[in-house]
Amino acid sequence: METKLSKRLAAVAAYVPKNSRLADVGSDHAYLPLFLVEKGHIDFAVAGEVVQGPYQSALANVTQASKQEQIQVRLANGLAAIDSSDQIDTITIAGMGGRLIADILSAGMDKLVNVQRLILQPNNREDELRIWLEENGFQIVAEEMVVENQKFYEILVVEKGQMTLNQLEKRFGPYLMQEKSADFIAKWQNEARKLSQSLEKVPSDHQDDITLLREKIKAIKEVLDVSSSSD
Ligand code: SAM
Repeated sequence: METKLSKRLAAVAAYVPKNSRLADVGSDHAYLPLFLVEKGHIDFAVAGEVVQGPYQSALANVTQASKQEQIQVRLANGLAAIDSSDQIDTITIAGMGGRLIADILSAGMDKLVNVQRLILQPNNREDELRIWLEENGFQIVAEEMVVENQKFYEILVVEKGQMTLNQLEKRFGPYLMQEKSADFIAKWQNEARKLSQSLEKVPSDHQDDITLLREKIKAIKEVLDVSSSSD
């Protein structure tokens, strides 16, 4: 049976270049590499997993699909799953916190020398990941927002290079805030609503918290207002 991907993982997969040599870090069931190999889009991948349970399910799925030749499932922490002989040129890291993704990349910088593209899907702290990328010689070349089961996911397509992001771009994403898709607007309207609710509950003597929340809401309004005036 062919592997089917969630909308979120399908969006990540769409940025993997044809015939790339892929490392999928935190692969869990190995769905992403299986899908791409079954489609004939790639023919070599490493599926890395640090936890026994997901590692075993990745191994079982790859074996069941008879794709052991093309997909090597490895039990390892982050980029320790790969070495230079794998000639990996594309890395996907999806479904983890932005800080953890940055930590994985930081710890494996030596493994990134020949990598052409990173496709990253942080579940949170997207701004921290963008800051890490900016400070470590990476540039974002595309971004996409995906909504699935009422959750908003940001996908960052990254290559080597320099970028300078302003405060708003770090938080909202340079491409996402340019494009201002309906999903982008929905995500940030939702966020502004939650922040306003929090603001109402902050005791009046907690001035620092109040200022911080107000600034966050103001930034959202600024970005969203620009969107409506440019329509
Ligand atoms: N990438 C899949 C996806 O997006 O659907 C799985 C996401 S799952 C929520 C995150 C996976 O990353 C878990 O299976 C976890 O064990 C694995 N993981 C977390 N930290 C890791 C690390 N440092 N190295 C490798 N795998 C890791």
